[in-house]
Amino acid sequence: MALAPPLHVLAFASPLQGHLSPMLKLAEALAIKGLLVTFLTTEHVYHRLGGADAPLCCRDGLRLRSVPDGLPADHPRLAGHLGEVMRSLRDTSREKYRELLVSLGKGEPDGLPPVTCTIVDAFLPFAAEVAAELGIPVMAFRTSGPCSFWAYFFVPKLIEQGEVPFPAPILLFVCVGGFSNIVVWVVFLTLVRRPRAAEGCDMDELVRGVPGTEGFLRRRDLPSFCRAKDVNDPVIQATTLATQWNPRARGLIFNSAEPMDAAVLAHIRTLCPSTYTVGPLHNLVRALDPSHIATAAAGLWREDRTCLAWLDAQPPKSVVFVSFGSLTVLSRAHLLEFWHGLVNTHHRFLWVIRPDLLEETGGAGDVLPELKEGTKEKGYLVEWAPQQEVLAHPAVGAFLTHSGWNSTLESISSGVPMVCWPFFFDQMVNSRYVSEVWRAGVDMKDICDRATVEKMVRAVMEGETAEKLRKNAAALAEMVRSCVGEGGSSRVSLEKLVRDTKLGVF
Ligand code: UDP
Repeated sequence: MALAPPLHVLAFASPLQGHLSPMLKLAEALAIKGLLVTFLTTEHVYHRLGGADAPLCCRDGLRLRSVPDGLPADHPRLAGHLGEVMRSLRDTSREKYRELLVSLGKGEPDGLPPVTCTIVDAFLPFAAEVAAELGIPVMAFRTSGPCSFWAYFFVPKLIEQGEVPFPAPILLFVCVGGFSNIVVWVVFLTLVRRPRAAEGCDMDELVRGVPGTEGFLRRRDLPSFCRAKDVNDPVIQATTLATQWNPRARGLIFNSAEPMDAAVLAHIRTLCPSTYTVGPLHNLVRALDPSHIATAAAGLWREDRTCLAWLDAQPPKSVVFVSFGSLTVLSRAHLLEFWHGLVNTHHRFLWVIRPDLLEETGGAGDVLPELKEGTKEKGYLVEWAPQQEVLAHPAVGAFLTHSGWNSTLESISSGVPMVCWPFFFDQMVNSRYVSEVWRAGVDMKDICDRATVEKMVRAVMEGETAEKLRKNAAALAEMVRSCVGEGGSSRVSLEKLVRDTKLGVF
């Protein structure tokens, strides 16, 4: 009897490091499970990954394809330009994507089985629309965590209830008059609800409109775009669009481990019953196929692996790893505050300073000699690190992070406590969960003077608090890692995802 041809899935990823890595891991996991996966990204990313020679192309059942993003080769494609990147991708690639889906739907051009299902990065709603118009089932993949998805989902409701934009500060007018020397008139201008600014309002006020987060989610922990003054802000509009379609997809996939997010997942499943938790995907793929060497190679930058040898020479848990991900930009003042704060702790540190980390033109190059000189034997600077390997290294004792979801998961699965300094978007929510729900780190959101940096780093490296955080982080790591082992929840969820995809039932 002839074998049935493999099911062919098309996965479409946003052209950002933090989206690409988990989407590629998901594609690999599906390929290991016998599906044929066409992985679609932009031409720019395709070439940075190595094109047809990309190590990932060695994986049976996985092949890369690309569409143009409409931007010039030298476009920075950085944090400050994200809107431009996503708009240009939508406008340029929509029709190309349709043509590709139509031809792949007919088994063209290379005689492969037709694509019968797509997995679309949640931040590409246009790609979901195109597939739906062609009658091809769409699954949504959120590369950020369930906790931030849930907060994003309620932003329209927060707006409706007047919780977002944040209220103007309460102004206190003290009038000194003629009644027994002091008469105090307090005028609460917030009684008149006007267009309001975030500055000066009480950012520690608890948020009421996100079910399940009452008691710990503050205004400052909401996604960064909630700080906009105007509900018509284009980022609010775009992220709302990118979130509200997710429950209408056939399935919703998270790079998270079930027990980590059980409470919020229970809420999410009331909206999206077909929710799959298959993370941490980098651990899952390694567990499914320990011998495969290509699994770590999905980076857009060249890794400086010399830092691993430097780490080998450091005592256990003595190094603070510092990395702000692929998009964060820092002002020169912030960079120096971090540096002084770190140096003042007298702990060793390994710091990733991307060439484009500094927001001022000229990059970080011109301050690096000064930092390198001052860092001396205690520190090691690289432009891009093999982060997963660094976090798994026994010399690393803490992670000063921007709380990107991948970094958070990688730290959690390695049992490394975090100092969180979220920069934007979901990172605001993630860092609150790290400190208040998982208790695996401290959150220094919105502050980065050298004294605070020093205090926070000491808190995760020294004394009783550090001891407690280490214990919590280790327990969390064990729990999360067990999810990707035989019979673990992420393995079971992946099996279910494959089965549902094959049967076409979601
Ligand atoms: N990363 C890396 N080397 C570095 C810095 C970052 O490999 O020097 C990887 C990191 O392991 C993570 C990704 O880049 O997988 C960053 O994703 P995240 O969601 O943490 O942040 P984003 O870059 O999206 O802000």
